[in-house]
Amino acid sequence: MKQLLHSDPEIAQLIQSEIDRQQDHLELIASENFVSLSVLEADGSVLTNKYAEGYPGKRYYGGCVHVDGVETLAKERLKALFDVKYVNVQPHSGSTANMGAYRAILEPKDKVLGLALDQGGHLTHGHPLNFSGIDYEFHPYFVDKETEQIDYVAIRLQALEIRPKLIVAGASAYSRIIDFAKIREICDLTGALFMVDMAHIAGLVAAQLHPNPCHWADIVTSTTHKTLRGPRGGIIMTNDEAIAKNVDRVIFPGIQGGPLMHIIAAKAVAFHEASTEDFRNYQKQVVANARAFAERLIEHGYHVVSGGTDNHLFLLDCMSKAHLTGKKAEQLLDSVHITCNKNTIPYDTQKPFIASGIRLGTPAMTTRGFKEADFVWVADLIDRCLSHPDDADVHEQIKNHVLELTKKHPLPY
Ligand SMILES: *Cc1c(COP(=O)(O)O)cnc(C)c1O
Repeated sequence: MKQLLHSDPEIAQLIQSEIDRQQDHLELIASENFVSLSVLEADGSVLTNKYAEGYPGKRYYGGCVHVDGVETLAKERLKALFDVKYVNVQPHSGSTANMGAYRAILEPKDKVLGLALDQGGHLTHGHPLNFSGIDYEFHPYFVDKETEQIDYVAIRLQALEIRPKLIVAGASAYSRIIDFAKIREICDLTGALFMVDMAHIAGLVAAQLHPNPCHWADIVTSTTHKTLRGPRGGIIMTNDEAIAKNVDRVIFPGIQGGPLMHIIAAKAVAFHEASTEDFRNYQKQVVANARAFAERLIEHGYHVVSGGTDNHLFLLDCMSKAHLTGKKAEQLLDSVHITCNKNTIPYDTQKPFIASGIRLGTPAMTTRGFKEADFVWVADLIDRCLSHPDDADVHEQIKNHVLELTKKHPLPY
């Protein structure tokens, strides 16, 4: 950052402070990760200078020969990674990808079934203030009260009654394998289309640790910056040629103008990384770490939603042992350099801004080399912190332990 330090020390200093924060905090936000230096280089490259409205070979600007190469490679790598026929790598974010997918297959006011937002669904799955809830008639489906897992029998009954045009699967806070085959069956029974938003689990899918939704759904969207460990962005995939044509038209010129070519290059780098044996081993470790982490907290006497995890995250019910709200737990952990987010748990009695739980994920710290034993230690530190909410000395000790852990596994930035 030599140049920036000289020309704009205020921003340079803020970036340096953020590097330091990332270095010396335990990052447990389930939707975050640390990209490789290669992804970062592509992300920060001169491709940011280039206008390339359109698609490879059909651009509205000259000088696109090299960025055409970049986008073509990104698409080919993505198709191979998820074994799918048609892809669009231009969506600027997961939300934009979802807007593109909906517009490619729905009309305004169409009925859609999606996981309830306070039970793990995403804003773009029908929140009343989000475009999705404004443009379409979303109906929530729920998890079973006892098992706290998706209630497929109830979805079937709802679909038969509501007759939605689309059923959406995928979540921001759901710790179990989603049974795509079962939802496909319900869609076939009721004449609904099937969309999967695999934003959170894309990395696990790439590593074949979760069923691949491209084999079941009519359309699949994802972010590229969560478990997939690429730059911030979105993607859309389908095996249906007609849907693919709609998607391309809807993304450009329908929603977006020029694509972010530097981000598309960084996506291509991430797709290549995600196809390697190293990445598969990384994802195996992500899942093993989440399991060890959740089990240790259960041993400490906490309720983990649904009793455990099959993937990279879980919800900890902070009321269950510590009698703290999610909001308070998030603040307490933040003060000892443990970063996570408050989250509602199924059938939560607290409002979303307070919440009863926190969401904990292992992708980011696993990238830094954490193994099961490290996460058992992290679980012990979290329990100690939440068990001593008012003890400044204990908090100081915990923070020092966190610094020991983060120093042992430095980031390469
Ligand atoms: C994160 C997420 C998104 C949105 O991604 P942004 O890039 O933040 O717009 C969409 N769907 C799900 C399920 C997500 O978890």
